[in-house]
This record gives sequence, C-alpha cells and structure tokens, in this order.
Amino acid sequence: MRTLFIANRGEVAVRIQRAARGLGLATVQACSEADVSAEYVRRADASVCIGPGPAAASYLDAGRVVLAALAAGADAVHPGYGFLSENAAFADKVERAGLVFVGPPASAIHTMGDKVRARTFMLAAGVPCLPGSDGALPEDPAACRGIAAQIGYPVIVKAAGGGGGRGMRVVTAEADLLPSIELTRAEAKAAFANSEVYLERYLTTPRHVEIQIVMDAYGNGVWLGERDCSIQRRHQKVIEEAPAPGVGRTMLAEVAGRCLEACQRMAYRGVGTFEFLYENGDMFFIEMNTRLQVEHPVTEAITGIDIVEAQLRIAAGESLWFRQDDVTFSGHAIECRINAEDGATGRPSPGRIERFRAPVMKGVRVDTHVGDGYVVPPFYDSMIAKLIVHGESRAAAVETMRAALADLHIDGISTNITLHRDLLADPGFCEGGTNIHYLETKLRKAAP
Ligand code: ADP
Repeated sequence: MRTLFIANRGEVAVRIQRAARGLGLATVQACSEADVSAEYVRRADASVCIGPGPAAASYLDAGRVVLAALAAGADAVHPGYGFLSENAAFADKVERAGLVFVGPPASAIHTMGDKVRARTFMLAAGVPCLPGSDGALPEDPAACRGIAAQIGYPVIVKAAGGGGGRGMRVVTAEADLLPSIELTRAEAKAAFANSEVYLERYLTTPRHVEIQIVMDAYGNGVWLGERDCSIQRRHQKVIEEAPAPGVGRTMLAEVAGRCLEACQRMAYRGVGTFEFLYENGDMFFIEMNTRLQVEHPVTEAITGIDIVEAQLRIAAGESLWFRQDDVTFSGHAIECRINAEDGATGRPSPGRIERFRAPVMKGVRVDTHVGDGYVVPPFYDSMIAKLIVHGESRAAAVETMRAALADLHIDGISTNITLHRDLLADPGFCEGGTNIHYLETKLRKAAP
C-alpha cells in the first residue's frame, strides 16, 4: 500500500491524512466543488474534484469515487465515516477495481447493515439483545399482537434497513400497535427500499454505551474499552466519554468477548463499534457500526492506541501487533462535538468563519479542518471541530474541558459552544451516568 485515496471530507479527512503521513503513505484527497479550495485539500499530496457540492453528486457517488481513485493511481481507499463508509456495494466495487478497501469485507458490512440480520447474528454469538421478535414481523395482525404482548409494552417498531435515527416508532399500548407497524413499514419502504420491520422492547431511561474493537485479517482481535455517548440531541451524539462512568468492568469484558467472537464468525477485519443500550446494570446490543467513528479520539486518549493508524496497517495486511493484555486504560477522556448550528434550535448555520481560536493547553486535542476565513458549506454535516480532553480522573477531564471551552472562540457563525459550556457546568453531567434523554429534557425545561 503506497497511495491512499481519502473518500471523505472535513475533520475526518484531516485525521486520515495525518495517520497516512505518519506511515509514509502518499495521500490523494477527494473533494467536491464546495470543498475544492479548503486548506486541507491543498495539504494532501494530490486532490481530485469528484463532482458538485450536493453529496449525492460527489461523496455519495460510488462510481465516481472509484474512478477517481483509479485515475489518481491510488491503491487503497479510506471511506472515513458517513457517506459510503457502510455501503457494502461500495466496498465490493472498490475491491473489484483491485483497490484495498480500508474497512471490513463487504460481506460483514452487509450482515451488520441490516438490523434484523445483525440481531439474529449477535444472538447466535451470545451477545445480549433486548427481548424482541424472532426476525422480521409477519404480515398477520394477530401474530404481531401476540409477539408484542409477549415482549411486553412499551415496544419499539424498527425498520430492518433503518439508520441515522430514522425508521423507528415507540408503541406504548396495543391499540397503537398495528397502525404503527403499517406506518413504519411504509416509511421504511420509501426511505430504505426495504419494508421489513421488527419489534424490540423499548427501554425508557437507557444510557448509550459502545464497545470499540479492532481485528486483523487473520482473526486476531482485541477490544479497546467502551465509550459512553448518552448526551444526545435528536439521536445525534453531542458529548462522548471514555470510560463509561459506573459501568461494571466484568460485564463489559464479558460482552466484549462475545463481540469479538461475533467478529471472528463474520471474518471481520479492521475497526468496529458495537452499540448497546445500558439500563439497570444490563447491556443490550442495538447495532454495529462497521467503520471508524467520530468519537474514536476518546479511546485513543485513554489507550494511547492510534485507531486510524491501526486501520491502515491492518488494511495493508499486517497482523495485530498487540494483544489484549497489552491494552491498558489510563484516566478519563471527553469529547465535545463543535457544530455550526443555531444555539437555540440546533439547526445548521453555515457561513464564513471570521476567526477561529482553539485552545492550546496540556491534555487538549483539537481535530478540525476549519480556520480563519473558512466557509462552512451548506451541503454537509454541521460538525466543524472536535475538542478532546484527557485527565487523570473524570473530574480532572471535566475541569480541563471547561478551560478548553473557555479558550475556544469562533466568530462569524453560530455554534453550539455555549451549549457545551452549559453542559460542563451542569450538576447532572458533572456527576456522570445520565441517560439518553438527559440533554433534551434539560433543553425543554430551559425553553421559554
Ligand atoms: P440508528 O441506526 O438509526 O442510529 P439505532 O438502533 O442505533 O438506530 O437506535 C438509535 C437510537 O434510538 C438509540 O440510540 C436510542 O436512543 C433509540 N433506541 C433504539 N432502540 C431502542 C430501544 N429498544 N429502546 C429505547 N431506545 C431505543
């Protein structure tokens, strides 16, 4: 592997460039017309414009991406996160073109990309799942009522092909069950071209806890601890941390062992994350992300392992160079996602950044692609930077994050920095262990 094509944009493109450079790889940066003049595009060894601003015509166009990678003489493609990163057909196309896909085999993406298939697979590997339907729901209304009664209300109807927080509906009483199933089926058919839905028990106050794994192409895998990503707004993570406050280590290790077994069964390769809901001391699998995640730096901070470098070395065929016993966890890390968004509504607010001042202090890392004069395009995700801190304890990390946020200044556009400053002063957050509804409940209470 000598030349890496980066089929993504923004902060993750910068992150991948850094890891590639560290390994002596040349980089070819893909960009849309909206990103063509961004500084990080110029910093790559080469760049290729793959189409107009709207993602459907550029970053999401698998054919164009593969052609551009071939034309640029690359021998590997890193998909980053979002866009085509969890698209099995894309991974397949990349490999068929004779390029290395920096990620798992297309078959593993395919298995985990369908929630019904993933759930069945995980149950078979002994990973705890919520009580739910045995596969997809049948057409027969009486049978559906029977399944829901057996699970116990509240239940959640979920689309097999769902993602990004879409294709889900909570049902609290039997009278609403059949209409909810019908609605979710219709939505799923339109949005994901797959009308399969299934049922699962709905947890009312869970936390989001996820397990990071890394596996080479020869079946050697380790887990790199867990992350708590319960501070969310509209199903989007806002703050993440590692380790997860107060979650039992023995149970985590046991569940992680099962996850690694599942990885072996699907011949997984690369890094991946198993997402769980955690309530009353139990963990239940909800989905697997077969790619790098936005919040990977908190794991890097407490383990000292460079996750993107690991992705690239594994993709190049290296066998894992450390064992489970070599992985040690030190201190506590927190990440705040800095978004270009309206402070009150949380809606995206693209525009020109007049001034960007990031904190420079011990224990603070800033991952970003923006700077003075950068124009945030309207076409993509609103995240413009990640602030990551590492401290000896959670309390120390909270202190450092407060100081870092005080020294972060972005002028010209609206951001969610104030929201983060509020959260870092919030008694519930400071105590730790809040559930996934905490932030939205807090915002509702604060609304005039
Ligand atoms: P997506 O792929 O759309 O992100 P997930 O299965 O990861 O879907 O679920 C997204 C979010 O929906 C979860 O983080 C959680 O907030 C909520 N959710 C999903 N399943 C359940 C459940 N069984 N009980 C309670 N909340 C759930």
